[in-house]
Amino acid sequence: MKYGRTYNFSAGPAMMPEPVLEEIAAEMMNYRGSGMCVMEMSHRSKVFQQIRDEAEADLRKLMGIPDNYKVLFIQGGGTVQFAMVAMNLMKNGLGCYVETGAWSKKAIAEAKKYGEVKIVASSADKNFSYVPDCSKLDIPDNADYVYICENETINGTTFFNLPDTKGKVLVSDQSSMFLSRPCDVSKYGLIWGGVQKNVGPAGMAVVIIREDLIREDLPKFVPTYMSYKTHADNDSLYNTPNCWAIYCCGKVFKYLLDNGGLEAMNQRNEEKAKILYDFLDQSKLFTGAVRKEDRSLMNVPFVTPSKDQDAEVVAATKAAGFDNLKGHKSVGGLRASIYNAMPKEGVEALVDFLKKYEAEHN
Ligand SMILES: *Cc1c(COP(=O)(O)O)cnc(C)c1O
Repeated sequence: MKYGRTYNFSAGPAMMPEPVLEEIAAEMMNYRGSGMCVMEMSHRSKVFQQIRDEAEADLRKLMGIPDNYKVLFIQGGGTVQFAMVAMNLMKNGLGCYVETGAWSKKAIAEAKKYGEVKIVASSADKNFSYVPDCSKLDIPDNADYVYICENETINGTTFFNLPDTKGKVLVSDQSSMFLSRPCDVSKYGLIWGGVQKNVGPAGMAVVIIREDLIREDLPKFVPTYMSYKTHADNDSLYNTPNCWAIYCCGKVFKYLLDNGGLEAMNQRNEEKAKILYDFLDQSKLFTGAVRKEDRSLMNVPFVTPSKDQDAEVVAATKAAGFDNLKGHKSVGGLRASIYNAMPKEGVEALVDFLKKYEAEHN
């Protein structure tokens, strides 16, 4: 790796593509003759407007977002969306949730503040190590939406088939898989993703929402900022947005377009994940924590036979120049997050290291 950078397996904020960081560095002191850095720029200026518009246009191209969907850039990261989804979409006051781990639990807890929540499927019985069957969900007629966390960052599971929502609106938290594979946006009512996992810097979420779900008749308690309509009516420039995140994400969108788009990303991500999972499947020391058919291509949790050894391996990887392999505090063990920007060489190097460790500790 150039610049003395390490292979960083953090779940987020996480690695960004090196060519993007280099471009940002080159534009830092004077953005394209504007005489200023993007951080110093008015969000109402022509030059910033162009940065914003290009970011949206490139994202639309990348995902093939249909014209009847709005793209919104909203501050507050992922957690704010737990509340915004419930506040804006609970017209009848009932949200159906699929409970697959830590992040869907947080979404459920937040939604309960604003209405009724029905958990229509759960994998809590096996420590969230799989995705429950969602082909025959019991969804009440008055349900406003069905919510999933499409990739559980902490537990390491992914939906490879979307639930049958019985015609109800599908809402998906794609934070830790956003832009990792092709996505048919028309199957969803609302997709959102915090960008610090697979795209750019922290502090912003991208929201893709079907226009008919943007409501005017919200309860009075909903703050102006928390209404999707506020952002939709103002091209995400109602107040000062996270200009820096929009700029950096825009660069990543262009980078992905120039490098084969989401099909190519998916192919690379499948290759990378296979290297790690193939190793775990044959290892006598390390065990993957997730049912095979539901394994995430982005976040790979695994364990050794003991907590002490888990900690020892984390320390050994750190000393060898691999960063952030400690599992989330709620589940322990180890976790390798291998988002778009993690090079294949990084995964290969990690597997080589783990192989050697296993041979030496047998
Ligand atoms: C990280 C994460 C969030 C929360 O994002 P913040 O920006 O930290 O609020 C929500 N959902 C998923 C799936 C995540 O990985």
